[in-house]
Amino acid sequence: MTAPQAQPEINEPSPAMIGLIDDERIKNAESEPGNWLAYGRTYEEQRFSPLTQINKSNVADLGVAWYKDMGTNRALESTPIVVDDLMFFTTSWSRVYAVSALTGEELWFYDPKVPREWGRRACCDVVNRGVAVYKGKVYVASLDGRLIALNAATGEKIWEVDTITDRDRFYTITGAPRVANGKVFIGNGGAEYGVRGYVTAYDAENGDQVWRFFTVPGDPALPFENPQMEMAAKTWKGGEWWKVGGGGTVWNSIVYDPDFNQLYLGVGNGSPWTRVIRSPGGGDNLFLSSIVALDADTGAYKWHYQTTPGDNWDYTAVQDMALADMEVDGVDRKVLLQAPKNGFFYVLDRSDGELLRANPFATVTWASEVDLVTGRPVENPELDYTENAKWVLPGPLGAHNWQAMSVDVDAGLVYLPAQDNPLIYEMVDTWKETGIYKRNPGGWNTGLEFGRITQILIDNLAEQPTPKGYLKAFDPLTGEDRWVIEIPHYWNGGVLGTSGGLVFHGDALGMFTAYDKENGEILWQYNTYTSMLAPPITFEADGVQYVSILTGTGGGDLFSGEPLPPVSEHASLTYNNSGRLLVFKLGGAVELSVPNHRDRTIPAQDMAEVNDSAIARGELHYNEYCGFCHGLVVRSGGAIADLRRMNDATHEVFNQIVIDGIYGSKGMAGFADVLTPSQADDIHQFVRARANQDREVSLGNKKPELAQLTWQ
Ligand code: CA
Repeated sequence: MTAPQAQPEINEPSPAMIGLIDDERIKNAESEPGNWLAYGRTYEEQRFSPLTQINKSNVADLGVAWYKDMGTNRALESTPIVVDDLMFFTTSWSRVYAVSALTGEELWFYDPKVPREWGRRACCDVVNRGVAVYKGKVYVASLDGRLIALNAATGEKIWEVDTITDRDRFYTITGAPRVANGKVFIGNGGAEYGVRGYVTAYDAENGDQVWRFFTVPGDPALPFENPQMEMAAKTWKGGEWWKVGGGGTVWNSIVYDPDFNQLYLGVGNGSPWTRVIRSPGGGDNLFLSSIVALDADTGAYKWHYQTTPGDNWDYTAVQDMALADMEVDGVDRKVLLQAPKNGFFYVLDRSDGELLRANPFATVTWASEVDLVTGRPVENPELDYTENAKWVLPGPLGAHNWQAMSVDVDAGLVYLPAQDNPLIYEMVDTWKETGIYKRNPGGWNTGLEFGRITQILIDNLAEQPTPKGYLKAFDPLTGEDRWVIEIPHYWNGGVLGTSGGLVFHGDALGMFTAYDKENGEILWQYNTYTSMLAPPITFEADGVQYVSILTGTGGGDLFSGEPLPPVSEHASLTYNNSGRLLVFKLGGAVELSVPNHRDRTIPAQDMAEVNDSAIARGELHYNEYCGFCHGLVVRSGGAIADLRRMNDATHEVFNQIVIDGIYGSKGMAGFADVLTPSQADDIHQFVRARANQDREVSLGNKKPELAQLTWQ
């Protein structure tokens, strides 16, 4: 006879009951609307919640229920998974948290210990967009390319696999894994540096590889992996794309479609960006910038639709895809919706990839339209930049990037964070002079002239289109805007719509806002004092509806740096870029203190060694190696150190940082593989000169000649 067992506490789940999401639960997600079971809430990834406890009539009473400081000032992009009162999410450096959804109390924390030197291999910050939870396991992909399965109850590692085929190349993973049919699917990033993209399916139970699909052909002298690679290779003409890598990374969207047991891959841009280098004989360069449908069980190719044939602008089609059932021209269709970087909103029939609509959702200048008969864009020949620099909209940050949209099927609308964000494209000088392009294994390989980017911008400022940010209620079938909110900065957060009649959105100004989904009227607003990129989610725990969001900007926009003017509107530059999880409920009364303003003074510079020729040389190297993180014209965007504000002690060890990598453990790897000590000296002098210039302006001694130099 045994002693009676103690009854478990209410709300304290037994370990065997934690994270028990399976295919059936995700397929039937509408029957448990209080949970957020998958990346886009359901397999359809519409990110539209049926919850209504928080609604138009009471949203004004929303307040903070609890919050958690995440101890980072790098961007937070994660979508939490919420299941049975627990929340699972990631932060910078691929760290994973499991917390109570009611209180934020930590159940466990897992750190994959990404080598901080890997930060240099990431084009777009050390971010992570979230986990998948499935049958008692939590799956996270680390920045350095590992896929890791954790025990959902304890955070202990169950298995780990290396997903990277070539560790000499700069592959990274920032995307959330997806799960279905007992498999975990993951892609990778790295096309800016020069890699070949692919997606791999692993057995969810033990990590065994099930299939792998490459998105672009490799060296045609070697055997093709499958018939589709042979077909794709015929669309790459001339050139030696495989030496740079070809690109086509699937770094964000992978969507499982239970209706057809299909997996859709959102495929990225070319490596290098410029097609005249990549494929000088022309051709579409399959499967760059495409949506590719595969059999989810075997990885066998089913169909593709290419949004940007012969991509020339970094126009990835990796942006979130949503699935829906929709009436189009009087016919019930199973459709796929995507707003990729190139500025056209695609509606495809997901049974066969047929193009149904492609309406522009922002300012588009690279093409006049997409021909619905041929399915191809009509390019604007006037913006061919092979000979001369041209401003093009959208630029490489896209008319829409990874920041999530929300699909309101009943209203026939998509709530979409969009932007007009141009770039001046100019072919790289070395190629113009010699006709030869050589891969740089330690840096970006775009084929564009980034070394002289400041001068190119100054020379072409008069024609610069004005950058703008938007939140739009967009009808993908008619191409009309139902309403538009204009936001002074372009780089804003993801979107959540709800049946409570609300659209939630966090922006660069630090405002977390609930809009009336009918007309865009502001119904509630909360100042987080931090710029946001992450998408909000909503869930219900113990009968109470919550809305949550992670704060902290950075990501793909480190390069643009400090917006000008006025910086004062940008929350993360004015205050701090504090990574925080905020969770709201009706009547929530937790008060957060207002943070202090940043010290934005620029110290006096020792200009004794600084001379014009060193500045000129240093500028080229800075723009090639430093500017992508530390910001254009040495003005940081808030997430990474602003080099104009280095103190004397840091100046003293500048070359040890840049060459020897003494700050490697802080995320700043050394660059001895690509820079000599004397080149680092030149960069140092350029940084001092820029700091001195901006200091003189701030003291009123000089005119702000670079003030207008931004594409904020
Ligand atoms: Ca890219």
